[in-house]
Amino acid sequence: MNLIEMKKANRSQVYQLVYQNRRISKTDIAEVLNISIPTVSQCVNELKQLDLIMEDGFFESTGGRKSVAIKCRDDIRIAIGVDIRKTVVYLVALNLYGDIISSRQQEILFRKDESYCAHVADYIIAFFEELHISGELLLGVGICVQGLVSQDGKYIVSGRMMDADGFSARDIGKYLPFPFNPVLKHDTELAASYALWKNPGIKDALFLMLNPNLGGAIILNGQLHKGKTQSSGLIAHMTLMPEGKFCYCGKQGCVESYCSVNALLEGFEEELGIFFKKLRAGDEAHRRRWEEYMGYLSRAIYNYQVLMNTDVLLSGEMAKYLTEDDLERLMELTLERMGIMEKLPPIRVIGENDVAPGVALYFIVNFLKEFMPDTFQHPEYYD
Ligand SMILES: [Zn+2]
Repeated sequence: MNLIEMKKANRSQVYQLVYQNRRISKTDIAEVLNISIPTVSQCVNELKQLDLIMEDGFFESTGGRKSVAIKCRDDIRIAIGVDIRKTVVYLVALNLYGDIISSRQQEILFRKDESYCAHVADYIIAFFEELHISGELLLGVGICVQGLVSQDGKYIVSGRMMDADGFSARDIGKYLPFPFNPVLKHDTELAASYALWKNPGIKDALFLMLNPNLGGAIILNGQLHKGKTQSSGLIAHMTLMPEGKFCYCGKQGCVESYCSVNALLEGFEEELGIFFKKLRAGDEAHRRRWEEYMGYLSRAIYNYQVLMNTDVLLSGEMAKYLTEDDLERLMELTLERMGIMEKLPPIRVIGENDVAPGVALYFIVNFLKEFMPDTFQHPEYYD
């Protein structure tokens, strides 16, 4: 390692430490990294010039001497994520920690035409203006459109769920006055990535998005398992009921047709919130449907668990309505199917609608990567 590389490595380590601790003293940095105070000061100065950190008062040390506190600046860059659904557009802005600093949603019915694209672009621009930040701080806007994505991530190959075939986020991007990226990754993958970012302790799990259409992702060893042909986690199209109901994928009896929000609401013609309101109020028809639904969901989870035996993380639109009792019942029903097995890994709720944050995260991680490459050498997802 030559001198320049050494300096860069030191700087990267210092930034990583400040970032992880949010606020830390110069003395502690020197101690943890085992480098001299002058070296720390030099790194700190460089990072200050890049606006990545700032001095923030003092820490009292035990010997009575004060040590300069260094704080990570989380507000120097932000990223916007856009999640385009059939009837709704979700927007979020993330800071450098990937925390949501602002979010909003609006009902806009998806259409594959110019006026739709211009309308969504206006909505994004208005959102950005309300953040009151200067344009240079915006790392970019990422847009995700529901549907399966081509392997190069450039366009939608199957948007059957909302007739988005051939639609490109670029159609919206061209109306935006700031950097934009058509992050056309699978929506579940994006939400699962955000869940991983927020919960780095997750090791192995099934990430299940209970949305109008079901989504699944497999997490193995803290990483998204994408599969050899990029199609792992398609639990939605596992066969749950042979010769059962028809699915939009063309097959019969898919998990999708029994465990998605659309399946739950079939015949009720009401919003999910209303369904749960009536269910909790004790309505008999709703109670029966819910029990039936839980039966199907437990069957899907059982099929997964006999093979994988991992945690099950529930997310998506339904997640916020689920109670501890629901989760217990689901576990009970799943266990009933397990026969001789008496224990299963937990089923729990994690996040809600984290597709838009997952899109924005792409920019945050790419920015951070430049200043602390060692931290992000593994998650290939962000490449
Ligand atoms: Zn299917």
